[in-house]
Amino acid sequence: MFTRSDSRPISVVTGGAGFLGSHLTDRLLSEGHRVIGVDNLITGSCANIEHLAGNDCYRFIKHDVSNYIFLPDDVDFVFHFASPASPIDYLELPIPTLKVGALGTHNTLGLAKAKGARFLLASTSECYGDPLVHPQREDYWGNVNPIGPRGVYDEAKRFAEAITMAYHRFHHVDTKIVRIFNTYGPRMRLRDGRVVPAFIGQALRGESLTIFGDGSQTRSFCYVSDLIDGIFRLAKSDFHEPVNIGNPREMTILQFAQQIQKITGTKSQIEHRPLPVDDPKVRQPDIGRAKAVLHWEPKVDFDDGIRRTIDYFQSRLD
Ligand code: NAD
Ligand code: UDP
Repeated sequence: MFTRSDSRPISVVTGGAGFLGSHLTDRLLSEGHRVIGVDNLITGSCANIEHLAGNDCYRFIKHDVSNYIFLPDDVDFVFHFASPASPIDYLELPIPTLKVGALGTHNTLGLAKAKGARFLLASTSECYGDPLVHPQREDYWGNVNPIGPRGVYDEAKRFAEAITMAYHRFHHVDTKIVRIFNTYGPRMRLRDGRVVPAFIGQALRGESLTIFGDGSQTRSFCYVSDLIDGIFRLAKSDFHEPVNIGNPREMTILQFAQQIQKITGTKSQIEHRPLPVDDPKVRQPDIGRAKAVLHWEPKVDFDDGIRRTIDYFQSRLD
């Protein structure tokens, strides 16, 4: 059991066996935190945390945070990262996605309140839906279809933001909200359906790169270490409104596919598939708030981040 008798902070990371949760855990441990990872492994993997086996500052609990969370430990920070995150995952898991955004956020806020801990919610650029304002600033309320297939994720995260602000205003919990834009890097699942692992996997296997629609939709890709640095700064700040963290370097999905073709040197061709329902046409973070409040901006160059990610996937090709 972790207690405050020792001065090192104690952090709970839900979704701790996932892509972002495991990188956040590594950063917290390197900053001297003790960490309790909580995950039901619905989309995560023990392989992401196996390097922590035997580390006295780390403990893992297999648990679904949509159910009541009991922890005997003292807790200083709760980082709520549990949720299916790739469109394929949340379309296959609509009810667990709604539950973890709603009930899971309620339970983790309750844990933070009971322990007197700070709370940080992993929210998303999907709160802006298919945005009518470009680039997206935090004061834009978004354009979300509540009853479309993506609504299960978008509305769960919007509810999560609402209940987080209510716990802050009504219960005075010290809360933070990060709106994460498309982030990539090692430990993504090769077949999670998100565009970065999809195109890299296809290029390495010599299969066609599957562009949904005509490829004119845009995204802005952030390397994982940059994102985690922004989140760490936000956790230590006294700022309670949502903060966008992402890389403003915007490109079309067609340009992204061409970059992957060039960097991997693949002979893979491009193949067009139907565009999913409600797929956002543009996405680019305005990071003015993160710059002003957190003195943060991304540092990792696109080619460098993509090469590091390719190296990781190369060793895991099936
Ligand atoms: P991921 O699927 O790799 O990680 C999510 C983790 O949460 C998994 O390990 C999964 O098993 C766990 N989980 C899901 N439901 C749970 C539950 N009910 N109880 C306990 N554990 C549960 O995805 P990720 O990319 O690491 O995303 C992490 C968080 O960041 C998510 O909340 C996601 O919405 C948010 N986010 C990610 C991105 C991105 O680009 N990666 C963008 C926006 C928001
Ligand atoms: N996409 C694509 N081919 C794929 C996977 C995704 O063209 O094999 C497109 C998808 O339609 C979207 C963009 O790439 O426009 C980013 O998709 P992703 O699933 O990574 O996340 P999103 O940003 O939509 O949440």
